[in-house]
Amino acid sequence: MEFHVRIQACRQTVPFPSEARQQQGKKDYLCSLNEKTVIRAENIHKSFGNLEVLKGISLEISKGEIVSVVGASGAGKSTLLHILGTLDKPDLGTVNIDGSEISGLSEKSLSDFRNSKIGFVFQFHHLLPEFTALENICIPAYIAGNGKAEAHQKATELLDYLNLSERMHHKPSALSGGEQQRVAIARALINRPAVILADEPSGNLDSNSSVELHALFMKLRETFDQTFVIVTHNKDLAAMADRELRITDGLIKGGSVAENSAI
Ligand code: ADP
Ligand code: MG
Repeated sequence: MEFHVRIQACRQTVPFPSEARQQQGKKDYLCSLNEKTVIRAENIHKSFGNLEVLKGISLEISKGEIVSVVGASGAGKSTLLHILGTLDKPDLGTVNIDGSEISGLSEKSLSDFRNSKIGFVFQFHHLLPEFTALENICIPAYIAGNGKAEAHQKATELLDYLNLSERMHHKPSALSGGEQQRVAIARALINRPAVILADEPSGNLDSNSSVELHALFMKLRETFDQTFVIVTHNKDLAAMADRELRITDGLIKGGSVAENSAI
């Protein structure tokens, strides 16, 4: 896996400095993903008992897009995010992520797929309290088969990028809310996922930390062409997105794939 920094303005990919030497002759990972659909969901239905939560949602999200998902409490935003993130299965409908049809994957393939392709950021960071920031960030890399040196190198670069180098050996309880959330974002990024799915990421932050978090999402998109789907109640965060998808009565308004695609 190679770390590239994507400079959107000149549509070029350049490596993180420390990996520049390793890159020659390797496949250009990010270039191979350019300008393509990252998520395509069609006709997603989901009920819990008699409660019909999602009634046929279709959407398409392109690489590098930031899409917000809004709607009343209980509208089904988290349910949709879980289905897009392969944490839950739809009753009906299909989800394709980065070219793979999810329903065709076995349980084992699905968990590997999830670990490598999808980064999750939740309202409560879900960092493991007994591990340091560095160790928490490394966990998905270990699961993906990276050795300690490789995982540490990636995590250290991310910590540096996120201005957290001085906090790397701290446990979550010794970090501020904003720092904890940045560590969670680094953990979500370490395997260079096709998409980051965030569920109320600023819901537990003060307003300054929320503004910083929003700026960070924009910076990650600018530098890495990172794709985001962000469920939020925060009007500023929703407005910052390229598109806002509103779930009402189990549907996205104008919910066809064509109408919900940026292109
Ligand atoms: P939102 O994130 O928009 O607030 P959710 O997707 O969490 O809404 O929930 C949508 C509806 O589905 C709510 O009424 C919720 O109580 C219900 N629900 C969500 N998950 C489950 C579940 N696992 N079992 C039963 N009901 C659920
Ligand atoms: Mg929710």
